[in-house]
Amino acid sequence: MTDNVVVITGGSRGIGRAAAIAAAARGFRVVVGYASNQASANEVVSAIEASNGKAIAVKCDVGSEADILALFKAADEFGTLGALVNNAGIVGPSMRVENMSAERIQRMMAVNVTGSILCAREAVKRMSTRNGGKGGVIVNLSSVAAKLGSPNTYVDYAASKGAVDSFTIGLGYEVAAEGIRVAAIRPGLIDTDIHASGGEPDRAHRLAHMVPMKRVGTSEEIANAIVWLMSDEASYVTSAILDVSGGR
Ligand code: NAP
Repeated sequence: MTDNVVVITGGSRGIGRAAAIAAAARGFRVVVGYASNQASANEVVSAIEASNGKAIAVKCDVGSEADILALFKAADEFGTLGALVNNAGIVGPSMRVENMSAERIQRMMAVNVTGSILCAREAVKRMSTRNGGKGGVIVNLSSVAAKLGSPNTYVDYAASKGAVDSFTIGLGYEVAAEGIRVAAIRPGLIDTDIHASGGEPDRAHRLAHMVPMKRVGTSEEIANAIVWLMSDEASYVTSAILDVSGGR
């Protein structure tokens, strides 16, 4: 069977890794995108293959349009695209807006916003019934930061996720009659490497007391929501944003 390919950007670690494994367990052929960590991406592919699933690893910095085009070309060779998980995302070191460089803000928007929109563009070209496709699902990874604003930490990141929310709503309306559903998940504090990349490895656990459930979430808890949105169980869900955040 060569249909039902899912492209997952940033599938080599964290939430993307968990989503890749969960999608493979539900019969998707998984294209595991990664930025630079080929060993981690290969490990995800091996884990999927060990469970009799199908996966390939493809290097793709979503800040590069050329990389995105190559990612979808590889997906085309792997089968028929049925889903996209726009998961790749970055934060930056904590700081006030007045100290942010233009380069930092531009990179944040290039990866978190433009990258997601360009990947969605490529997915719509392939999946829209208007273009002869068989339909599909796009799941965007937003963040509760879009609601909270992340003052004194990374307002630029929060703003990028606000853009992801608006994009989810608008694209969902645009392609709703073309067989494509579009939804976003807003994770809360999830125990992944992203906090270390922002300079504070223990951030999620430090802030866990502020979560109504009083704990951080796991990548698997986000992946469960992703694969539900990708499934027919969510067949009437589009332009929707789901908080998976322990209440905050
Ligand atoms: P993570 O642990 O830092 O993993 C990031 C993944 O994205 C890795 O696979 C990495 O690839 C890839 N990546 C990084 N920069 C990339 C780029 N420019 N192009 C393509 N891929 C890139 O992140 P995570 O915590 O799982 O976060 C996943 C998504 O959930 C992000 O959109 C994030 O904003 C969102 N989110 C996370 C949390 C949280 O608490 N963790 C909360 C809310 C929202 P390499 O392995 O090659 O580096």
